[in-house]
Amino acid sequence: DVRSISRALISVSDKTGLVAFASRLAARGVELVSTGGTRKALADAGLPVKDVADLTGFPEMMDGRVKTLHPKVHGGILAVRADAAHQASMAEHGIAPIDLVVVNLYPFEATVASGADYDTCIENIDIGGPAMIRAAAKNHGDVAVIVDVADYEPVLAEVEASGGTTLATRRRLAQAAYARTAAYDAAISTWFAAANETFAPPRRAFAGDLAEELRYGENPHQKAAFYAGGTARPGVATARQLQGKALSYNNLNDTDAAFEAVAEFDPARAPAVVIVKHANPCGVAEGASLVDAYRKALACDPTSAFGGIVALNRTLDADAAKAIVEIFTEVIVAPDATEEAIAIVGSKKNLRLLVTGGLPDPRAGGLTVKSLAGGLLVQGRDNAVVDDMELKVVTKRAPTAAELADMAFAFRVAKHVKSNAIVYAKDLATVGIGAGQMSRVDSARIAARKAIDAAEVAGLAAPLTRGCVVASDAFFPFADGLMTAIEAGAKAVIQPGGSIRDADVIAAADAAGVAMVFTGVRHFRH
Ligand code: 5GP
Repeated sequence: DVRSISRALISVSDKTGLVAFASRLAARGVELVSTGGTRKALADAGLPVKDVADLTGFPEMMDGRVKTLHPKVHGGILAVRADAAHQASMAEHGIAPIDLVVVNLYPFEATVASGADYDTCIENIDIGGPAMIRAAAKNHGDVAVIVDVADYEPVLAEVEASGGTTLATRRRLAQAAYARTAAYDAAISTWFAAANETFAPPRRAFAGDLAEELRYGENPHQKAAFYAGGTARPGVATARQLQGKALSYNNLNDTDAAFEAVAEFDPARAPAVVIVKHANPCGVAEGASLVDAYRKALACDPTSAFGGIVALNRTLDADAAKAIVEIFTEVIVAPDATEEAIAIVGSKKNLRLLVTGGLPDPRAGGLTVKSLAGGLLVQGRDNAVVDDMELKVVTKRAPTAAELADMAFAFRVAKHVKSNAIVYAKDLATVGIGAGQMSRVDSARIAARKAIDAAEVAGLAAPLTRGCVVASDAFFPFADGLMTAIEAGAKAVIQPGGSIRDADVIAAADAAGVAMVFTGVRHFRH
């Protein structure tokens, strides 16, 4: 699958490393063909180089808008070498094969960044360059494409070592090529979005298709739209809405958080329910049935659950539906729903019911993307699951089997609570959740306070944190957070460990007769 290079078309705006690169190609007898500026730079360096105009029989025209857009160029790039009909077309029309395309584009992004005027930005939209890049990448079976100066050296090294490029290299280069043209067009579209007076979300953009133009964003003065990518992953983007008014930006975000969280709970083990408010769980439970799980989840923080999102890991049944419609709820999301349940939810006209057809795999890979001013942060999904972690008991007392089950449960929940996350749990239900605090000790206090409030609502003598377990999404930097949890009634602790003060934290646990395990894995969520 090695393809040798006889002819290279080089057309680059950024001429860094150009002469050195082309010299080494020329030294191997590669014929060089170039556009105006590139040709001049190579000729000035004394290299033999052909003008693309000689190939096409047309001069560059219209301020360079039309240089390489010609069948002699694109036929030479796109012809499949092993295809007899393609070969016949080449012979008939006098088209010579082009085996390597080296293009970097008009500097559109830099032009915009320099504050250039509208017309200058427009003139810096490269047309022929992306066309050649895309053609060469499509025909990577025969043709290599370089869009990045950083690829000059590795490609040359391979050509010099093996007489050509390997298929693996050409496929890697093709991926980089489409990534470059995609980013280039995204930059142009983003610039138009800023230059245009009104925000009109295009039908196809970003991760996929425009699913919905939203009434507004996080706040009414923000425009917003929802784009759904071509993913097979069951979730909000692929769900069917069976009833209720249109989902808002915040609904979509919260429903996603709720459903991703409930997917952590294997439906084969037990029915589970997650109630989310403002992207954080405010109650999570496994139960004997869905309705049992829902009531346990609701008991954790009934005040916050008002106007929440309820996610279930099994088919919504009538009993669960009856219980859920008792209080004001924004959205119910489940893999499926029975006819009876659908009818019960139907009594609440505005309540949305979404069915996803399944649960996503919490261990699945993939990327998460977050935008920040002028850039994107990309990372692999947090697909770590507590069942796969090697739990290390670090205290004198080892946890009981019941504590261990609650600890795994609590750590599963903590993964879906914004940091700093502290989760108190008992009998496979959360009994206090502290989320999104800048200090871990505050999260521990808030979670305890919420448990006291919940006990008051339920008319209990003592908060449910008495004898509970506690999970922390990251290590306790000091013993104070742990002490707060112990004061609240925690008897067992699950946390990643790894603080330089682990010894202090372990000593505090031992002094209180508390069992503690380290997971070695952190679940920050920001
Ligand atoms: P040069 O400096 O060689 O004159 O021009 C190189 C630039 O022209 C490259 O950035 C390349 O992508 C771009 N280019 C090549 N062919 C065409 C074309 O047909 N139309 C336009 N607009 N740009 C082209």
